[in-house]
Formats: sequence, C-alpha cells, structure tokens
Amino acid sequence: MSDLSANIQAMYQELILDHYRRPRNKGTLESPDRIVPMRNPLCGDEIDLHVRFDGDRLTDLKFTGRGCSISQAAASMMTEAVKGKTTAEASALWDRYHAMILGDQAAASDKTLGPLRSLSGVSKFPARVRCALLAWNALEVALEDRIA
Ligand code: ZN
Repeated sequence: MSDLSANIQAMYQELILDHYRRPRNKGTLESPDRIVPMRNPLCGDEIDLHVRFDGDRLTDLKFTGRGCSISQAAASMMTEAVKGKTTAEASALWDRYHAMILGDQAAASDKTLGPLRSLSGVSKFPARVRCALLAWNALEVALEDRIA
C-alpha cells in the first residue's frame, strides 16, 4: 500500500469514527411522514429512520438506533448526504453508494459520493456489507411509494 493510500485509509477511518461518536441527525422527528424500522440480525444493528417530505424533496431525516460503528456511522452519513435532496437525487446517490459497497471500483472513485466514500473499504469485508447498507435500505423503503 502506498503512503498516499495509507493516508486516505487513515482519514476515512477517522471520519467513520467521528460519525459513530458524534452521529449527525440522531433523534426523532416530531411529525415524520414515514418511520422505517430496519434490523440487521447478523450483527444486531438497529435503525429507525424518520423522514419528512415536502413534495418530492427530503426536507428532514433523523434516526435512532444502536449497533456496530459501521451501521451507525453509515446512518449518520446517509442522513447528511440526502437531506434536502429530491427523491430522484437521493435514489441516484443510493445506486452509486450501493455499487460502491458491493465493490464497484468506478463507484468508489466517484466524487459525487463525497464523504460516503470513506465507507468504500467495507466492500472488502462481506460480513459488514449489510451494516453499511442498513440505513440506506430504510431510506429505500421510505422512498418506495414516492418515486413514480
Ligand atoms: Zn453491524
């Protein structure tokens, strides 16, 4: 591994830990349009995703849950990444993220994923893939009846 690559890996690791220790958008919404519970029995991860829409825009998201650092950091990053986006934009981001987590190299170097790319290393650990996808699976359910 080159020094540059090692530096990036260290930076990614730090970002994941930061989201795990100080999760963004953690909590519940007062009047959510959807609440989607999602469980990962393989790891014991739990996510309850609260979503608010205005038309086809995701105006607010919050989550509660517990579990491994990957599952909780991924939930925190997901809420930051899609908040304020349209359902179509969020869905496109989910497609790219999903491909990246499953090991797609082109997706892993796609800058539109921004900080989400810090989770690209998960693709090398099949047991953690479900953890990284959990919150996004909840989002997918929330979006299901919104996308024409
Ligand atoms: Zn997990």
